[in-house]
Amino acid sequence: MTHTQCLIIGSGPAGYTAAIYLVRSAIDCLLIEGLQVGGQLTQTTTIENFPGFPEGIDGFQLMENMRQQAVNLGAKMKSGLVTGIDMSQRPFLVTLDGGEQLTADTVIVATGATAKYLGLPDETKYAGQGVSACATCDGFFYRKKIVAVVGGGDTACEEADYLSHLANKVYLIVRKDYLRASEAMQQRVKENEKIEILFNTNTVGLFGDNGVEGAHLVRFKGTDKEELFDIAIDGFFLAIGHRPNTEFLGGQIDLDEQGYIKLTGHNTATNVEGVFAAGDVADPHYRQAIVAAAGGCRAAIDVKQFLS
Ligand code: NDP
Repeated sequence: MTHTQCLIIGSGPAGYTAAIYLVRSAIDCLLIEGLQVGGQLTQTTTIENFPGFPEGIDGFQLMENMRQQAVNLGAKMKSGLVTGIDMSQRPFLVTLDGGEQLTADTVIVATGATAKYLGLPDETKYAGQGVSACATCDGFFYRKKIVAVVGGGDTACEEADYLSHLANKVYLIVRKDYLRASEAMQQRVKENEKIEILFNTNTVGLFGDNGVEGAHLVRFKGTDKEELFDIAIDGFFLAIGHRPNTEFLGGQIDLDEQGYIKLTGHNTATNVEGVFAAGDVADPHYRQAIVAAAGGCRAAIDVKQFLS
């Protein structure tokens, strides 16, 4: 059975940075890359707020660079998913999809977060037929069409703006009467003539015989001004936040009420000795690539200290 001093789970900025620091500290590590190699950033367009790239850098390229840097330094990567970890024994017993098992002295959980859906049955019914949680992945299919984006945060505004360069019209469906996004993003969306913001509006369902053809909406839900109405759309994009990927931990690690891993102090340690966490999976607040990368660095240093 393969044994490693440190198993890193996740291939986002946190995981790759942890690998870079660990191999440079002469600690044997293995990184399990997960379903989406490179993580969430591979689905964005140009990243302008990661220092070191004066002209910005494509998200996919940034992650490929991080991966290559780790590999060049000697980090080992393995594709696949971790389906379970037995934390009651030392070394930890780790099971991968496909049944392979390996052991690890320490673990860094860097599994990031996944897009949230509203929970409407129609999201499942029209999955791959007009419903998406990634404008940069699927926007291409909606050139000269009409789309809707749900959400009022930075992601929703960014996706609405991105889609407006492809589609003829973009509705931004916002449940409150204000946007939560940064001032700059709000301004960009409000000044964009192709974007119509529907405030105080919730989605009730989707309709269409051939994929999504429209959405049933409700304005001022639950008040005496409540009003049901439909919009004709070809694509429905979710941008309402993310859920941390912690389910595979099987309740062995303490999580907060939203499911993010709780760090126990000023470092990246969790409540289980030898298990550390970094990146979005333990960060309900900042959720930025640069912060995740910093988290990976901290976790690697914490592992080094723990092992010695
Ligand atoms: P946020 O949590 O900031 O925003 C989520 C939005 O979705 C809110 O408007 C929220 O509404 C809405 N929402 C949540 N649940 C529902 C629901 N069930 N029905 C309808 N609407 C819903 O998530 P983001 O993904 O936008 O951003 C996450 C973090 O990443 C933020 O800190 C953000 O600043 C950052 N970010 C930064 C970027 C950048 O700097 N370039 C780009 C993208 C994100 P409500 O306000 O009512 O809760």
